Amino acid sequence: MAKQVVTRTYTASIRNQQQVSGDLDVLGFAASKLWNVGRWAISRVWDEIDYIPDHDELTAYLKRHERYDDLHSQSSQRVLQKLAEAFAGWYGKRRNGDTNANPPGYRKRGDDHPRSTVTFKNKGFKLDTEYNRVRLSKGSNLKEYWSDFILCEYQTRPDVDLSTVENVQQVRAVWTGEEWELHFVCKVEIQVSADPGEQTVGVDLGINNFAALAYEDGHSELYPLNCLKQDDYYFSKRIARCDDSDSEQATRLNHKKSARRTHYFHTLSKHIVERCVDEGVGTIVVGDLSSIREDEEDSEAKNWGTHGNLDLHSWAFDRFTDLLEYKAEMEGITVEQVSERDTSKSCSCCGRKRDANRVERGLYVCDECDLVANADVNGAENIRQKVSPSPATDGGDRSNGWLAQPSTFLFDKETGAFAPREHVTS
Ligand SMILES: [Zn+2]
Repeated sequence: MAKQVVTRTYTASIRNQQQVSGDLDVLGFAASKLWNVGRWAISRVWDEIDYIPDHDELTAYLKRHERYDDLHSQSSQRVLQKLAEAFAGWYGKRRNGDTNANPPGYRKRGDDHPRSTVTFKNKGFKLDTEYNRVRLSKGSNLKEYWSDFILCEYQTRPDVDLSTVENVQQVRAVWTGEEWELHFVCKVEIQVSADPGEQTVGVDLGINNFAALAYEDGHSELYPLNCLKQDDYYFSKRIARCDDSDSEQATRLNHKKSARRTHYFHTLSKHIVERCVDEGVGTIVVGDLSSIREDEEDSEAKNWGTHGNLDLHSWAFDRFTDLLEYKAEMEGITVEQVSERDTSKSCSCCGRKRDANRVERGLYVCDECDLVANADVNGAENIRQKVSPSPATDGGDRSNGWLAQPSTFLFDKETGAFAPREHVTS
């Protein structure tokens, strides 16, 4: 075993909720107002010169705005950073032809502002782990003569001890819809397996097969979205039948739908990491989808969002990659993200690049070397080769279709785990 420092976020409840919720409300509303000021500024610039200012430009522009001083300067900066990120995400999708994508909206409900998350960085909070208290700074506009900070008494999960973490980098005040809670973003030292394998695996994330894996030794695996698609269809139909999309019933169904997705992603990432441990994998190579979203010249963008009833957006893939990283690092396995550029067009065997990618029925057929491969597996193998350039071998002829015969793992609703297709009963 070896030690490694990683980032973790711990959730805590606030024990003196009644005393502090009013003050936190004021900060949460202030964050929404600043968001709206920034939102308005961006659309003005956009209308004038067809350009979306980035985070630094936005901050420089709004630093002297009176709303900026409602929060601690680091907290205000964070609001504008989030806004700039949201715009960059939307712009990337739009460029990739996702016409359903909406730009980030204003944070307003009727005449009211919702309570936005407020982030406090190192200068904006003071933690007292002896008495389980944290002081959160207000902005200079909101400081009053009797107090310039909010003193929260927090309670973490019993197994979390903030006095033992390396350092707390950020505190976020988050409105859950019912009350405020605190999220502590910490550097934590963990024990990891000291001796991961040396093999590599490539992972291609997509909309048909959520994940396709190509191992260095030549075998490959597919993880179709069977169960998630059924789930989505079922919940979408039930939600559509609700009279009012804001009703309690619709909200409950939406919660259930997203909880099941989260569960699916957790289970899948755990399963993949277990498979990697079994296979002696030390490096997982994942296609970095954001590089496609941001790369203007690349026309290879995946078509998100409109696949039957499945409204899986790119955030789902980002979220999954995060989970995979988190679980892999516990095993000492590194996750590397590489650009997906050309990975679906090129032949993983001879390297020939063709524009008419994705040949018939999910098979990639190379007219140069006669490779026949599952198209997603071919993509995964190209992704893997970006880190480990030697082609996968199965000890024999690589063009005999081995990549065309991946093993398929399905989510088994009865056991709640992934199993080879042959073993899945439900
Ligand atoms: Zn080829």
